Amino acid sequence: MTGRAGASHAAGGTPDPPRAPAELADAARQFFRARHGGPAAVVWTAPGRVNLIGEHTDYNGGLVLPLALPHRTAVAAAPRDDGLVVLHSAARGAAPVTVPLTAVRPGTPDGWAAYPAGVLAELRTIGAEFLGVSLAVVSDVPAGAGLSSSAALEVAAAGALADLAGIDADARTLAEIGRLAEHRYAGVPCGVMDQLAVACCRADHALLLDTDDGSLDHIPLDPGAAGTALLVVDTRVRHRLADGAYARRRAGCEEAARLLGAPDLRRLEERGGTAESLSADLPDALRPLVRHVMTENARVRRTARLLRSGSVRGIGPLLTAGHASLRDDFAVSCPEVDVVVAAAVAAGALGARMTGGGFGGSVVVLVETAAVPVVTEAVLAAARRSGQPEPRVFPATPAAGAARAPG
Ligand code: ADP
Ligand code: MG
Repeated sequence: MTGRAGASHAAGGTPDPPRAPAELADAARQFFRARHGGPAAVVWTAPGRVNLIGEHTDYNGGLVLPLALPHRTAVAAAPRDDGLVVLHSAARGAAPVTVPLTAVRPGTPDGWAAYPAGVLAELRTIGAEFLGVSLAVVSDVPAGAGLSSSAALEVAAAGALADLAGIDADARTLAEIGRLAEHRYAGVPCGVMDQLAVACCRADHALLLDTDDGSLDHIPLDPGAAGTALLVVDTRVRHRLADGAYARRRAGCEEAARLLGAPDLRRLEERGGTAESLSADLPDALRPLVRHVMTENARVRRTARLLRSGSVRGIGPLLTAGHASLRDDFAVSCPEVDVVVAAAVAAGALGARMTGGGFGGSVVVLVETAAVPVVTEAVLAAARRSGQPEPRVFPATPAAGAARAPG
């Protein structure tokens, strides 16, 4: 079980399909028993997510349109009465961690254990009481690929631990607990998209999330029924400058909004006019940021409208235009990602774009079902030619959000 999870993440190409939720939950139960010497009391699973469109908009009051992946993380848990938190993960390199409940704080524990321990600590702030916890994690979500393995871990842990404490938390609450854990305990200032997508997505739907008012709208999306497929291409590249660049882009957007006297870049829309006219007086470095955010929100709206009208194919050009905007205006792509996008489009994909924060990570590709082999091979060949790591290519069928595993 641990071998399979490691192996499927280690190499490129076209990996085995992820385990079904029930199978993954069983794997987590077995892993729990092997590590903790007794049965788990509860198992939750939560999916990774891929953002179809709406990138770098979620901290600008904008729109995002993610969907849940069939790849999930399972968290099995049981109460203890010795004051300890004992955490195991089957992921490669995730050493087991034992920490007294009372010692959990930002920085303790660190590494992977900060995510579930942070969730536990955040649940305590809303009244959950624990005397100790045993926890075991098994996952098929590629980690560090921009597919939100961190949010999957947080939200599955939040569901399992809330159950242990007898707290009746809805999906939004689980998402908020996860987000706070990521901010305060993992030290990652992420937006609101990841955890909400992981907690709230529905099968065969994308999730239109308006980060201005927090409203959620489930948009039907069944690529297969439309004769198409959504592919995720994990480039297996992540450049170190990603975190610093994220902070600088975010600060740039905030500075632009401040100079324009708006609470955020979304609110600029209320003034009417184009990104060009609205940002004409801004410093050169800030104008492209405004242009990306405003045109990206428009692309999300058009994508949602097309999907509602049943036109999956029609969104292809919006994906590719979104990529150009991220590459040229927001400047968060990288050569390895651009190679994959260009190869997919040249091989006949309907559209392709980087997804996630940028500087590596994954690409989402919309393709005719019949063209999946050709586009997949073109992407792998292009990566080979440019001497970059072999990408991992797999289909993304919109899956369900976090849930308690039956049994
Ligand atoms: P992403 O969320 O895009 O996958 P992040 O860097 O935000 O990338 O989160 C990845 C981190 O989350 C890993 O380095 C690890 O610390 C933690 N993590 C995710 N999934 C697991 C898992 N199954 N077991 C242990 N840690 C995990
Ligand atoms: Mg993450």
